[in-house]
Amino acid sequence: MSDSTASLTGAECAAGFRAEAQEIAERLVREGGAAPRLVVVVATEDESSAWYVRSITRAAARIGIACDTVTLPSDAEPGVIRKQLATLSDDASVHGIILQTPLPPGASAADLAGAIAPGKDVDGANPLSLGRLAAGLPAFAPATAEAVVRLLDAHGLALAGRTVAVVGRSTVVGKPLAHLLLDRDATVTVCHSRTADLAAVTRGADIVVAAAGRAGLVTAEHLAPGAVVVDVGTNPTEDGGLTGDVDADSVRGVAAALSPVPGGVGPVTTALLLRHTAMAAEAAQHPEDTHVTP
Ligand code: NAP
Repeated sequence: MSDSTASLTGAECAAGFRAEAQEIAERLVREGGAAPRLVVVVATEDESSAWYVRSITRAAARIGIACDTVTLPSDAEPGVIRKQLATLSDDASVHGIILQTPLPPGASAADLAGAIAPGKDVDGANPLSLGRLAAGLPAFAPATAEAVVRLLDAHGLALAGRTVAVVGRSTVVGKPLAHLLLDRDATVTVCHSRTADLAAVTRGADIVVAAAGRAGLVTAEHLAPGAVVVDVGTNPTEDGGLTGDVDADSVRGVAAALSPVPGGVGPVTTALLLRHTAMAAEAAQHPEDTHVTP
């Protein structure tokens, strides 16, 4: 990154959230309760998904959060997945539940996630969580969407009164992010594959968030000079690495700041999942003083 484009790295911000989660976990155990426990339900043989689950498990173990995986066949019927999620929702020893994607063909993540108890929905996947977010009520936001806002906060970038173009309207990133940004008094435009002139919209924005899953989609021509760019994209490269939705070489020197891939939104997302799990465990142990009111 050149001197004129700051790097919005996520490591420091992520470390802060992990420290908070660890503090909660240690306090709950000191009080005689159980350590927070996250369960990831996997019904795929996708290698990048397996890598992601391993990285969450390792990160959780380091801060005193248990993380188990329930593996279902990659051709599991939606009913089997739903039943598993309902069983975990009823299990008092489980505080957080994540339904990993991709899912077997024909299974809808949003539909199945409706079986995750809202108080354990640490990745904001239950449509009820999205609805509560939209209504300005307490709920866990999808960790990636929240990570974008937290990353901007951590780098001292104000949102109130700024124009933000979000590229992508998925239920897990674009839509919840739009609600979080509105809550912070930003003026938000959500773009998608049918947006007629993407560059014209993004050029009018102070902040551009790229969450389309298209490597190199956002170039210098999409930006006003001095724009802040957050790259949510994680696209696999041929050499086994990851690349974002932003063409970093192209926007260097045009953008005031850009989040790197990897090392930007990703680590903050993982840290927030753990923080949410710790908060869910705290709410279970102290129902009189909950942060989340599902
Ligand atoms: P998704 O469900 O495939 O949604 C992609 C969105 O981008 C859709 O709304 C799509 O529009 C839009 N889009 C696709 N091509 C476009 C184009 N050429 N111009 C404008 N919009 C376009 O993907 P997702 O789950 O939201 O994930 C988005 C990216 O974030 C992926 O790279 C994913 O791997 C990454 N991700 C990263 C993290 C992390 O922790 N860092 C977590 C989750 C996801 P339509 O609605 O019209 O199809």
